[in-house]
Amino acid sequence: MTAAPFVLQIQALHKRFGKQPVLRGIDLDVAPGDRIAIVGASGSGKSTLLRCLNFMETPSSGRVLLQGKPVGTPGPEGALRYGQVELSEVRKRVGMVFQQFNLFPHMTVLQNVMEGLLTVKREPSDAARARALRELTQVGLAEKADAYPLHLSGGQQQRVAIARALAMEPAVLLLDEPTSSLDPELVGEVLGTILQLASQGRTMLLVTHELGFAYHFATKVVFLADGLLHECGTPDEVLKHPKKERTQRFIERFT
Ligand code: ADP
Ligand code: MG
Repeated sequence: MTAAPFVLQIQALHKRFGKQPVLRGIDLDVAPGDRIAIVGASGSGKSTLLRCLNFMETPSSGRVLLQGKPVGTPGPEGALRYGQVELSEVRKRVGMVFQQFNLFPHMTVLQNVMEGLLTVKREPSDAARARALRELTQVGLAEKADAYPLHLSGGQQQRVAIARALAMEPAVLLLDEPTSSLDPELVGEVLGTILQLASQGRTMLLVTHELGFAYHFATKVVFLADGLLHECGTPDEVLKHPKKERTQRFIERFT
């Protein structure tokens, strides 16, 4: 069997909150190895888009296909009709890293990274521990395995959150402004970890305001405005030579 050509296919995705339309028809294909930077003003729906991709939010309409199979389609009353991929599968194959890290404060670093392996993947604890230690080594934090998150810097906590997501071996990793809540001197270490993942060919969608970083990181940049992908292209096309006036204004504000 040949692998599905796309990791994710987003088709005519709409999301409303009450009467407020936030996403108004998003179409985007994500191929293996793609690194897509999503940029746009605050409140433009970047987080909502990522949350619709791992079904923390239910799309109002449209489809998301994960490795060629539909995850779920909203029914007539907005209730989610399950597609061929169960939501528990989505949780395994779509990893998420949040702005606020969202580590469990009462668990050690190691327990945080093991948690999904034990509860979602139902791995035996020896195997989960070994994998968690490998992922912590990869982000340079094996020696913090027994520490509690509150004793780590923000940058270290975010690297643990990245290790926790990677431990699940996701087909795609979603990162929602992973450096926005960090002190400036801690941003670099997290961006360095993300670049390391990029060099391994991992498939990622990154929401960021760090346009300089996006330029080096991304294979493709999308600018979200008014609930639509206003402009898409290579980093050079969108960030250096935007065609649309609105994209130009956005980029000028950040550079
Ligand atoms: P961004 O991440 O680009 O800053 P968001 O996706 O967080 O934007 O939000 C887009 C819009 O949707 C905002 O107007 C926000 O207030 C609204 N919104 C987001 N989540 C909810 C929710 N759970 N309930 C109601 N409105 C929401
Ligand atoms: Mg957001």
